[in-house]
Amino acid sequence: MKKRILTPLLLLLLVACSRPPQSETVELYVFGTLVTITVWDAEPAAREAAVTEINQTFQRMHHEWHAWKPGPLVEINLAIARGEQAIALPPSIASLISRSQQLYRQSEGLFNPAIGGLLGLWGFQGDGRPNGPPPDREAIARWVSAAPGMDDLSINDGLLRCANPKVQLDFGAFAKGVAVDHAIDILRAHGIDNAIVNGGGDLRAIGSKGGAPWRVGIRHPQGEGVLAALEIKGDESVFTSGNYERYREHEGVRYAHILDPRSGLPVEGITSVTVLHENGGIADAAATALVVAGVEDWHRIARQMGIHYVMLVDEAGTVYMNPAMQQRIEFAAEAPATIVISTPLKP
Ligand code: AMP
Ligand code: MG
Repeated sequence: MKKRILTPLLLLLLVACSRPPQSETVELYVFGTLVTITVWDAEPAAREAAVTEINQTFQRMHHEWHAWKPGPLVEINLAIARGEQAIALPPSIASLISRSQQLYRQSEGLFNPAIGGLLGLWGFQGDGRPNGPPPDREAIARWVSAAPGMDDLSINDGLLRCANPKVQLDFGAFAKGVAVDHAIDILRAHGIDNAIVNGGGDLRAIGSKGGAPWRVGIRHPQGEGVLAALEIKGDESVFTSGNYERYREHEGVRYAHILDPRSGLPVEGITSVTVLHENGGIADAAATALVVAGVEDWHRIARQMGIHYVMLVDEAGTVYMNPAMQQRIEFAAEAPATIVISTPLKP
């Protein structure tokens, strides 16, 4: 009888073919958040290499972009406050600034990463939850009249100039989205085209789950669990900004961590905004901007920012959506009592 001996190559091929396609999830703890990376039917070696690179990239971003822990951004903010001109910038911060400038203009200044000084006044630049009475009204009024904004900045030959020493950069409303985009780029560079990168409920999904759409949850801003679900196939980010996730509390009053740069005060009356957009950075910035825009202005600001899917929930529980978003949303439990459908966002 002739014995067949499998060559190592053939053996490898057989093993590869017999391995059923499956999803694998890897967890990382970065940016103070649990980040889960789910990949569909990826080679284990590619997956491991990609996750290692993502972890390193996230740690570097965390260091470079942190607004109050010692590092490059803190140095830049100190130099701006001293009135220095021609401040050297790491490329990653130069890119954050230029991209933010466009989003700042499109949002009429509602997304304003030059808001660090105001966030500091309100106690939102620290790891714990701030307590005590709100900051002095006069200090807030001084910040508002100095009106620090992203248009005060210009970059030439990699050097930063700033026309307003009250500018203090804080990319807390944008960085997670940009980081998720980087993670997706890294996965693709390793040949992984079907994946979800999820940072605490904000995510970007690419490809599919073996031909079927990814099904993702929209996080509930007032606690654990999901508010609604939707299907994604292709490439899309889902970002939610909630006005209840971080706040300052004093004598029973909650002061939300999303601030209106026009008044210097915390936004009131909005529970959450969810935005879908291909790009995670844009989705992240827009979700924050639309919380500030509120019921009256979200539609105009969303159009200006090129956003085609929005869901806004106000404190009374009323849900505002554009028709395209309504078609995709499935509420987890009971549907909200009042849903207001706007005119389409896309002409
Ligand atoms: P997000 O969870 O993406 O909505 O980001 C909220 C964080 O963005 C806050 O904790 C602040 O650090 C920062 N922030 C608050 N208000 C604004 C604003 N109007 N523009 C830009 N960043 C803001
Ligand atoms: Mg945001």
